[in-house]
Amino acid sequence: MTRLILAIDQGTTSTRAIAFECSEDGALRPVAVSQIELEQHFPKPGWVEHDAGEIWTATLQTCREVVRKGGGIGRFAAVGITNQRETSVLWDAATGEPLHRAIVWQDRRTAEATGRLAAAGHEPEVQAATGLILDPYFSASKFAWLLDAVPGSRERAARGEVKLGTIESWLIWKLTGGASHVTDATNASRTSLMDLRTMQWRPDLADLFGVPMEALPDIRGCADHLGDCEPSLFGAALPIHGAAGDQQAALVGHGALNAGDAKITYGTGAFLVANVGDAPVTSTSRLLGTLGYAVGDVTAYALEGSIFSAGSAIQWLRDGLKVISESRQSEAMASGLKDNGGVYLVPGFTGLGAPWWEPGARGTIVGLTRDSGPAHMVRAALESLAYQTRDLLDALEKDGAPKLSVLRVDGGVTANAFAMQFVADICEVTVERPAFQEMTALGAAKLAALGVSLIPDLKDHPVEAPARWTPRMGPDERERLLKGWRGAVRAAIIAAQ
Ligand code: ADP
Repeated sequence: MTRLILAIDQGTTSTRAIAFECSEDGALRPVAVSQIELEQHFPKPGWVEHDAGEIWTATLQTCREVVRKGGGIGRFAAVGITNQRETSVLWDAATGEPLHRAIVWQDRRTAEATGRLAAAGHEPEVQAATGLILDPYFSASKFAWLLDAVPGSRERAARGEVKLGTIESWLIWKLTGGASHVTDATNASRTSLMDLRTMQWRPDLADLFGVPMEALPDIRGCADHLGDCEPSLFGAALPIHGAAGDQQAALVGHGALNAGDAKITYGTGAFLVANVGDAPVTSTSRLLGTLGYAVGDVTAYALEGSIFSAGSAIQWLRDGLKVISESRQSEAMASGLKDNGGVYLVPGFTGLGAPWWEPGARGTIVGLTRDSGPAHMVRAALESLAYQTRDLLDALEKDGAPKLSVLRVDGGVTANAFAMQFVADICEVTVERPAFQEMTALGAAKLAALGVSLIPDLKDHPVEAPARWTPRMGPDERERLLKGWRGAVRAAIIAAQ
């Protein structure tokens, strides 16, 4: 039986392959996994690079191991790929070798270039077409930087001799032995070059950023046939039939398929993606307009907001303040207090993200009294996750997004039941955590399974019941706490000015 899907999850810190078995009822269960850590390169302050060759080697190695553990290539029906988004690769079409290290999404080296475009008044046209603000985060300025850095590559790009792409494009090129130069629409939506409505590259934007269209991959749907693996790699020409950027794959993994469904991944930072339905919504509160997924003739648009410090605030309690020795101790310490004692922590360690966008803000603690102790710091850090989530949900509402039904959560921090209950209370929403946590890989597997008709649709078929938290807090208490939080954010912003 060929009921296995090979999901590749190429993340910022590691490369993983997971084999999922599709049962007749449409549920996907993981049966084998392999993972290799990825080396991070920091050549200058603000610069972050990966070795695209190392990413390819690790992908091949983890896939081969999972194919073996899964019982051989004959049991596999297709490959699905999900990846760290925006990370940009330039490679030689003839040799298949990268021409420079990949520029990672966090890299700020093109801040001046995007700043120049913003100063020249280009942000409204870029946002109207792509949903994105002008920021070095997105791939276009990284592509242009790579072409400038590698002598002769601009001229070669025009002749089709060098290729540009994000990580899934690079991996598909390698997996197909150079036969396919494609991307999926969700990854393309993070470049600043794709029109969100037509899902085609915009020649005017390619011109604006200085990226030759000839070097860009073709844009495909998320469950399209993206190419066939070169038979010598795994012993058969396995089709690649699904791809999506990591946050979008997580949306699919959670089964957040309807307008008003949203997911937030609480890891080191936190990423909210809210499904807004079949038409794009332009944000007036500096959320990002993006694609949820595009499958056949179904397109789901999304709004996205990020919190820079989520789990990292817990890491700071552990490694900086040293008031806990393990992350999980935070739950008991916070629950041991009857309330927060008026203490708030704004975890602006690396500035504040949406909707505040204060890059100069720093971490701020307010409300200390002589009774404040380590437990108050812990509680304030955990509570800050919920307040920041509320700020994002308020921004969504302001943008006219459909009312949220359920907030689906995943990521390391969701092990903390105190924090999850507090999110439900402060955000006035039911919080659901699936029993299986690998939503990103699951999303990629679902897309590929749909692509080869192993499953009929992307609906959720959880193998086990999710954990659920419903709001219990009264409105007066919530208002009082939110007032305290807003005062703390004001203090953080004033201190930064
Ligand atoms: P990433 O994918 O960004 O590396 P993970 O999803 O693995 O992140 O989550 C790791 C984060 O979760 C760490 O910052 C850690 O401090 C936090 N974390 C793990 N367990 C708990 C817990 N029980 N309570 C609070 N935070 C936790």
